[in-house]
Amino acid sequence: MRALSIRTKLISVVTIILVAGFVATNLLNYQVSRGALRTTILENELPLSSNNVYSAIQADLLRPIFISSLMANDTFLHDWVTEGEVDASRMVRYLTQIRSRYETFTSYFISANSLKYYHFEGVSRTLSETNPEDRWFFEARDSQDPYVVNVDFNYQQNRSITIFINYRVIDENGTFLGITGVGLGLGSVSSLVKRYREQFRRDVYFVDDAGLIRVHADPGMSNKITVFDIEGLGEIANEVLRNQRGSYTYQNQDDKILLTTRYIPELKWHLFIELPESQALKDMQQGFIRNLMIGPVVILITVLLIAYTINIFQRRLEDMAITDKLTNLHNRQHFELMLEQGLARFKRSERPFSLLMMDIDHFKSINDTLGHLAGDEAIRRAGRILRSHARENDVLCRWGGDEFIILAEDCTAEQALRLAEDARHAIHATNFAPGKNIKPVTLSVGITQVIPGDGQDSLIDRADAALYKAKENGRDRIETVLA
Ligand code: GH3
Ligand code: MG
Repeated sequence: MRALSIRTKLISVVTIILVAGFVATNLLNYQVSRGALRTTILENELPLSSNNVYSAIQADLLRPIFISSLMANDTFLHDWVTEGEVDASRMVRYLTQIRSRYETFTSYFISANSLKYYHFEGVSRTLSETNPEDRWFFEARDSQDPYVVNVDFNYQQNRSITIFINYRVIDENGTFLGITGVGLGLGSVSSLVKRYREQFRRDVYFVDDAGLIRVHADPGMSNKITVFDIEGLGEIANEVLRNQRGSYTYQNQDDKILLTTRYIPELKWHLFIELPESQALKDMQQGFIRNLMIGPVVILITVLLIAYTINIFQRRLEDMAITDKLTNLHNRQHFELMLEQGLARFKRSERPFSLLMMDIDHFKSINDTLGHLAGDEAIRRAGRILRSHARENDVLCRWGGDEFIILAEDCTAEQALRLAEDARHAIHATNFAPGKNIKPVTLSVGITQVIPGDGQDSLIDRADAALYKAKENGRDRIETVLA
């Protein structure tokens, strides 16, 4: 009972240590990896993405700027405007040629004088200073720069970004004649943004100096929402827009958002690249959960192995504690336990049992003549003979030295006598030293039967007294003491 509780305690403690250690290391690992991952994303991955987008923008811008600059300096265009914009078809033909030669998305010219919008298919309309849709023209007109870049996000055309280069046309006298330019899809930028979004779950969007989101993959965001409107980002937006580049984190609902920004001077916009931390941690979390699932299996196997090993050793220890090493019979300790149980049983049932105390006669002389090892062997042998004569239920133990004791269940002193006689004869008939001329080995036996009121001591004392009597009366005999 006590052994069981110690074992249970030990296994519980080991299990707790394993589980606690396992959970603690995993959590710690997760925390450390999470921090490292966040730093890597903010300091390396997102800035790298923004560099790539910026390079793509620069590459995509070169061509339309070059074409628009050619158009703005074209003498035909200058002459046709200063001659009063006669014959619109000539301008349309010119724009068509430009469009097909350079494979642009569109090509156009807006006259400062007539405010007419010429493009490769004809004159579409006349611009008005009061129409907000035409504001880009007047902004370009009033600009100090030779051209203004306008970007449009085209949802119909595969979410592509189209760039318009509004080049100012100035004649040799410095007079502003209008705006000319081409529209060209930002092919590589679009595909990069798309790839970042689909493959890496990153949001790439452009924000102007006022904080308005100008281009976003989500149509509901473009030109409608400012970064000040976004939960978490709003609070740091001023600082973000003030800086040319930077890395930030902000809390949006349940998620931490990792953000890098970079100013794109060509567009006068800020490039924002964002990654929700939950997204970045997903792979790591899966690994963590996988670990968490493997762990209990490993712990269970370990604990089972420990329990199994403890069981084996405990049983071995228990066996060792009650076994006599020399004869493999039970020892005195075990006998006392069995006797206690026998007495208790007798109290309940009053069914008699007997004790047979046995001692080899003149054993010292066996030792003396044959040697101690042969003496050992003789004790072993006597033990085997006694075992074979005792019944299955009889408890046979080595009492010590050359002495044995039998607790014979359901057995009166009379019945015990028969058992003792058989054993005595068997010992007598056995040649303990084949080939050597020694006297036959004999056995003295003392018998007693349990009586009401007996305890261990009284019972054993009587058996002892009976044995003593057998020795006294000449050995190789059996005596009974009943009370
Ligand atoms: P008795 O007839 O009076 O019993 O004479 P005895 O010589 O057998 O005397 P006793 O039983 O008192 O002594 C037993 C001897 O057995 C004493 C000891 O030297 C020897 N002995 C005790 N244990 C062992 C053992 O494990 N191996 C061997 N070889 N001898 C033992
Ligand atoms: Mg003896």
